[in-house]
Amino acid sequence: MPTTIDSTSETDLSAGVRTWIEQNWDPQLTVGAWWRRLADAGLAYPMWPAGVGGRGASAAAARAITEQLAAAGVIAPPVGHVAATLAAPTILDHGTAEQIDRFLPPIARGEAAWCQLFSEPGSGSDLASVGTRAVRDGDEWVVTGQKVWNSGADSAQMGLLLARTDLDAPKHRGITYFLLDMEQPGVEVRPLRQMNGLSSFCEVFISEARVRDDCVLGELNGGWRVAQSTLAHERASVSGRSASGLAQARSGVTSGDLVLTAADVIERSRRARTGGIGGAAVPTQLMIDLAREFGLVGDAVIRQELARYYIQNKVNGWTMRRVAAARGRLTGADGSMSKLATSRICQRSRDLAFSILGASTMLAGQDAPMGGDIQRVGLGSPGIRIGGGTDEVQLNVLGERGLGLPREPADDRDTPYRDLRVGTQR
Ligand SMILES: Cc1cc2nc3c(=O)[nH]c(=O)nc-3n(C[C@H](O)[C@H](O)[C@H](O)COP(=O)(O)OP(=O)(O)OC[C@H]3O[C@@H](n4cnc5c(N)ncnc54)[C@H](O)[C@@H]3O)c2cc1C
Repeated sequence: MPTTIDSTSETDLSAGVRTWIEQNWDPQLTVGAWWRRLADAGLAYPMWPAGVGGRGASAAAARAITEQLAAAGVIAPPVGHVAATLAAPTILDHGTAEQIDRFLPPIARGEAAWCQLFSEPGSGSDLASVGTRAVRDGDEWVVTGQKVWNSGADSAQMGLLLARTDLDAPKHRGITYFLLDMEQPGVEVRPLRQMNGLSSFCEVFISEARVRDDCVLGELNGGWRVAQSTLAHERASVSGRSASGLAQARSGVTSGDLVLTAADVIERSRRARTGGIGGAAVPTQLMIDLAREFGLVGDAVIRQELARYYIQNKVNGWTMRRVAAARGRLTGADGSMSKLATSRICQRSRDLAFSILGASTMLAGQDAPMGGDIQRVGLGSPGIRIGGGTDEVQLNVLGERGLGLPREPADDRDTPYRDLRVGTQR
């Protein structure tokens, strides 16, 4: 009987996963219990190693598993943004066996929420100028500084922190990458309010917070290399959409869905799909429906723009699939290409949707068309051009790594950090 979940052939694997789902899926389970089952069976993140939520599967096998989960209409594995897309792969790339065993299982089970503590008031695109300091104290480090624009920091238990550990080294060479416990007295998180009314990111004030030496990720003063991994995963994550049919639940013990039943989350997801816009751009069909509702499908200019939007979405979808299939080896800057394409779709989505709405664009909240969703998404669109590296920075990466153009000129690569007028030292 070819139904073992450990089969090497894709057909047998799919049959094995189907059987496993029949035996394990129950909509009355809590999300937490379902995620625990997925992780224990190595189906949460199949490409991760066995024992920490995966089974060391190939990309093709992982896709086959996702397809089976989607076909069964179950809850997706936890998708907590920073935890699963940035923290876990960076720890897998650079962590010790002990760090992998300690930090990955809670991420696979959706119990851990992480945030990214990279940007500072004086260090964004020039990330290597970070000024937050970490000073050794026995087998601990004492960290002091300020971070900003940190998505989800108010509900995160752990943070991916870049801090300066050598002031005499040039800026790229004196940074260390730490895994910081956010739930300690030296960490104060203040949510920031965005122009769309949401509050998805925060500023984080760190005053003599403590981090143990065994939470240094990679080498001491080698944090820049580790940060490059995180940034590459961040760009690539733009193309890592989950298969349709999978309802998504929020991970994290404080603000997640762990205690809800799977059935409740599926119902919420069903309602959101018909009554709201989940992503950062208006879906193509919804845009066409909107033009119809506002009597503009016969308008020559709007028709032209709708066709452009449709084509751009289609082409971008194919590009994303090629990028995902090539697993980062298409141009040397695949993530930047995907991110730029997504960013441009979001800007076009805003412009087109606002043109269709006309004067109604000025309304907000429940009284606005679609309960204000169009405004919320449109006002959030400039953030897509900035978060994870601005469009201009992605173009630089594409030019240098994709096209092999000369590096951007810089005269401070060999100057000791303490002599630079960068970041908060300006
Ligand atoms: C929605 C969102 C979520 C975010 N989430 C996080 C997070 O979770 N964690 C985190 O640490 N940070 C996060 N950020 C911060 C983000 O990474 C920074 O805002 C971004 O890197 C830009 O830095 P900056 O804001 O300091 O702008 P600056 O670096 O000051 O840039 C200002 C302008 O100058 C341009 N510019 C700068 N340098 C160059 C150059 N070399 N060549 C050409 N043009 C250049 C930029 O493109 C931009 O237009 C988030 C930001 C947003 C909007």
